[in-house]
This record gives sequence, C-alpha cells and structure tokens, in this order.
Amino acid sequence: MLFDTHVHLNADQFEDDMEEVIDRAKQAGVDYMVVVGFDRVTIPKAISIAESHENIYAAVGWHPVDAIDMTEDDLKWIEELAAHPKVVAIGEMGLDYHWDKSPKEIQKEVFRKQIALAKKVKLPIIIHNREATEDIVEILQEENAQEVGGIMHCFSSTPEIAEQCLEMNFYISLGGPVTFKNAKEPKEVAKVVPINKLLIETDCPYLAPHPYRGKRNEPAYVKLVAEKIAELKEMSLEELEEHTTKNAKKLFGIN
Ligand SMILES: [Zn+2]
Repeated sequence: MLFDTHVHLNADQFEDDMEEVIDRAKQAGVDYMVVVGFDRVTIPKAISIAESHENIYAAVGWHPVDAIDMTEDDLKWIEELAAHPKVVAIGEMGLDYHWDKSPKEIQKEVFRKQIALAKKVKLPIIIHNREATEDIVEILQEENAQEVGGIMHCFSSTPEIAEQCLEMNFYISLGGPVTFKNAKEPKEVAKVVPINKLLIETDCPYLAPHPYRGKRNEPAYVKLVAEKIAELKEMSLEELEEHTTKNAKKLFGIN
C-alpha cells in the first residue's frame, strides 16, 4: 500500500485521461493521494477530485511563484476551504527564487501569512522550496511553524538541512530525483532520515522518476521512488511502504 503525498492530478496534463491514471495508480498499489492546489484554478479542481474519489484528499495553498497575485480575499477563501472534510493540509507554500515573477519580499510575506493561517486552522503545511533554503528555514523558525509541522516537499537540500527540518517537526518527502543516477544528495538524505520521518511523492506531472525522466509523471510511478528508497535504506519494499503510508496518514489525520 503506497501513499503519494503530492500529486497535481488537477493539472491540464491529466485533463483527458485522469480516471485511467487513477486506475493505473490503484493497480500499482497506490491507495492514497493528496492533490495539491495552489491558485484560483487548481484549488477548486483539487477539491472536486477529492470529493469524487474515496482515498484522494486535497491540500490548498498559494504558490510562491504567484505570490504577487494573492489578495486578502484569496487568503480568506483558503481559510474557508480548510474546513472542508477532505482538505488535509495548507500548501503548497514557500519560496521560489528560480523565477522572478514575484519579488522575494512579497513571497516571504505571503509565506508568513499562510503559516499563520495554518496555525489558526490547525493543519500541517506543505513547503515548496526552490533555491531558497536559508530563508525557508529562517521563516519556519521565526513563525514557529513547528506548532503545525508538515512536509518538506520534494526535498533537495543536504542531510544537515534535513536534520534542521526534522527538529522543527517536519517530514522529509522524496520524489523522482532520488532515482536519478546523478542525484547524490537525495540519496544521502534517504539513507539518513529516520524511516518514521520519511514520505514519498511523485509531484506528477513533473519530475518523473527513472526510467521515465522527462516524460509525464503519474502517481503509479511513486512505486519506483519507494523501490529506490527501500534499496538505499536496505529494507524490504513492504516495510518501506508500510512506514511511509503510516507516516502520511498520521500527519494528515487519516484513519
Ligand atoms: Zn507541487
């Protein structure tokens, strides 16, 4: 039994064949997923997919790349949606310094506001970090994000940073890059992070694992991520699946 903690089945790439993709995931043993919405278009889609599928849940937040577009109304809307029975987390949120659509200061402000919101509604947060590790860690500390904890999504920093995140009550989630031949750090992270703090994800349609690198990713491929981590941790696939699924259910409050 696998739990893909980060999917974008609400992306245009799945518009034509989403149900087939979900069926393939089930056949691969992926019983649970969280669909992540991050703006006015993807959030309602995430909720509607969660409403119409038994073991699919939703996360709602505002993406840092579009931080400049977020209004107070958007924030209020996200807060209202947090009460939905299938919404299990706030996010994705964070900082993305790769793209410059939203100035850093605005990204930081929107990030801080969403952490405060999550603390108010008592839901864990999903963190998106691109080229902004130092500022992410600083803001999580300053805003006492530890109170709600959450997920460092598609973690790509060092084992030392992973350690800092664990201390702040965060889980480390690994995706496709752990299977890439030239990816050293995710492999080191997979080895050192305790099994009770690890999660797996695809981030589909992005970041497909080897041997599908560069193609459209889908939840069924989370099994390839699980297999690679099991190999790195020298444990059976069954054991890895059992722990990561249990971790995700605990974090998201799913029985
Ligand atoms: Zn994502």
